[in-house]
Formats: sequence, C-alpha cells, structure tokens
Amino acid sequence: MGDEGQQEGLDKDKKTKAVALLSGGLDSSLAVRMMLDQGIDVEAIAIKTPFCDFDCGKGCGHRVKQVSVDLGIPLKTVYFGAEYLKMLMKPKHGYGSGMNPCIDCRAMMYREAKKHMENTGADFIVTGEVLFQRPMSQNRRALHIIEEETGTAGKVLRPLSAKHLPPIEAEKNNLIKREMLGDIKGRSRKGQLSLARHYSMEDPPNAAGGCLLTDPAFSKRIKDTFEHADGIPSINDVELLKFGRHFRMSRDAKLIVGRNMDENEKIKSMFLSGDILLEAKNYVGPTCLLRSRAYDESVVRASAGILLRYADSPKDAKCIVMATNGNNDMIEIHTESAQDEAIAKLRI
Ligand code: SF4
Repeated sequence: MGDEGQQEGLDKDKKTKAVALLSGGLDSSLAVRMMLDQGIDVEAIAIKTPFCDFDCGKGCGHRVKQVSVDLGIPLKTVYFGAEYLKMLMKPKHGYGSGMNPCIDCRAMMYREAKKHMENTGADFIVTGEVLFQRPMSQNRRALHIIEEETGTAGKVLRPLSAKHLPPIEAEKNNLIKREMLGDIKGRSRKGQLSLARHYSMEDPPNAAGGCLLTDPAFSKRIKDTFEHADGIPSINDVELLKFGRHFRMSRDAKLIVGRNMDENEKIKSMFLSGDILLEAKNYVGPTCLLRSRAYDESVVRASAGILLRYADSPKDAKCIVMATNGNNDMIEIHTESAQDEAIAKLRI
C-alpha cells in the first residue's frame, strides 16, 4: 500500500510527455493539438529523407519548423541519408505502387522516435497516422508489423484513429483520456477538416503527401539508378534525379538535360570531377551533364546530338557542342541534332 501511495505521488509530479513524429502536414499537426488539449507535453521529431518534396518554395524543412512554432513545441530534425538509400535498395517489406517502401520507411521513423522517447523520458510516441488512409502502411497488419519490428508495441498512439485501435499502455495507465481521442478512418479528409475548424486552424497545411517515391515518373528514375549502380548511389546522384530530362545512354552512362535556366545552373552545381558538361557553342541551349563510369567517345557524341535537339540551333546542319571534363579540358564536337524517335528510346 505504502509503495503504491509513493508511486501515485511520483506520477502526480511527472507530467505526461509524448514524442510526436511531425511531418508538417495536417494529420500530424492535429494529432499534436489533441495531445496538447489533454495537457500533455509534446516534443516533435521531423524526419527528412532525400525524397521529401514539400514544395513550399521556402526551402525544405521550412513548413515543419513553422508548424512546430505554431504549435509551440520543440522540434528536432533528423536526416536519413545513406542509410535510407541502403534500405530503399532492398526494403524488407517491398514497395508500394511506386518505389515507396512505406513499411520499412515508417519503421525507421519509429526507431528514431523511440530513441528520442527513451532519451527524454517520454511516455509514448504520437503519430498522425489514420487507419486505412494509405494502403501500404496504415492498415492494422502493417501497423502491427512496424511496432513489432521496432519494439514499440503498446507505445504508439494515433490520436486521430485511436478509438478504432486497441488502447496503448499510456491509456491503460490513465495518462491519456481515451474519450478525447478521435475515430477517424479512411481516405476522406472530412474528419480532419472538421477537427481543423474545431482548433481554429485557419490555414490548415495540406496533407503531407510530399514523398517523391510515390511519384511514378520519379520512381522510374530511381529504379533505373539502382539497376545501374555499383553500390549505394550517392546523395548527389539522387539529387540529380529531381530535375532535368534523363536519358540512359549506356550501362555506364546517363545524360541529364536542363529544361530551363534554373535547371542549367543546378546541373552545373552538381558537376563532379568524373562528369562531362556539355553546352552548345553558338546557340542558346540546355546545359547537359553526362555522368559515366568510363569515358566512351560514342556516348559523348550521342549526348551532344541530344543536346542539340533541345537547343535553338538549326536541326538540319552540323553544329558545335563543347564538352568539358573535370580537369577543364574541353573538346568541340561537330554533330547534328538527334532524331526524336531515337531520343524517345533512351528517355528514362
Ligand atoms: S510515403 Fe514516402 S515518406 Fe511516407 S511512409 Fe511511404 S516512403 Fe515513407
């Protein structure tokens, strides 16, 4: 009896605390609000992968920072780089409709949240997951697998859907009021929008669907990269996939063609010492980057032809393309514009 009384006293002193996985989207923001509403302390973790595509125009990570400020909670940002790419090349639970390895990806996020929960003495993890919202990772089976694999069973609260899920440990220990939790499920956004109104969130952030791995065109590019890579691709390789037109020139070589001035500048900034940069000599045209494991003159020439296809140069005459390597050695290639049918076959 005495021990129990002491325990009760200790619990009274300790404020319930949660670690939230915050994406910057509406669902995780609402999940945090619901916790704050119950007087629970919340610290947030934002996970960034090389495939976040939050096009807010203010730089990656801006939105989630603003959301954490609006919510008045501390935020820690964790970046998954090479280890994410390693997982992505061979996800244990496979891919979704694109190259999205949602179960393995969520498992990585849960592990990070668990680490933070343990380090900060938090009682549980909060996520904005909604049951049956996403086919691959937000069904009962997937949630169960992720929890089992990450040792978080009974530790993860999804406030939006909590009434459709078994109570977690903290609910059983009366640290959370279950009656204040949500019963949203499925893909409709009605429940979330009504909650947003309830919290007077005037400009609710869009659903954080900003993952390039669910995009079919981008998925094709990353798949091609994996199929032709010797090992884990570099972050530079992945960044290059995000802009320009891409052409598979050979087993060893890929060409990236800028589509506008902005992309031309980006391509130049991503140039590595083994690359070849191509530009038209006397005409306005794209900047092209040829990334290749081995120098192949026929590939450089073919790349010059593709460049001319997108340049303002005449299509029925030979023009000059300058090809520069990492030592600043430059050669001039006299060639004609490539034909559309030939180009189409190389397009990734
Ligand atoms: S959509 Fe992208 S970020 Fe979200 S769980 Fe799937 S792979 Fe991860």
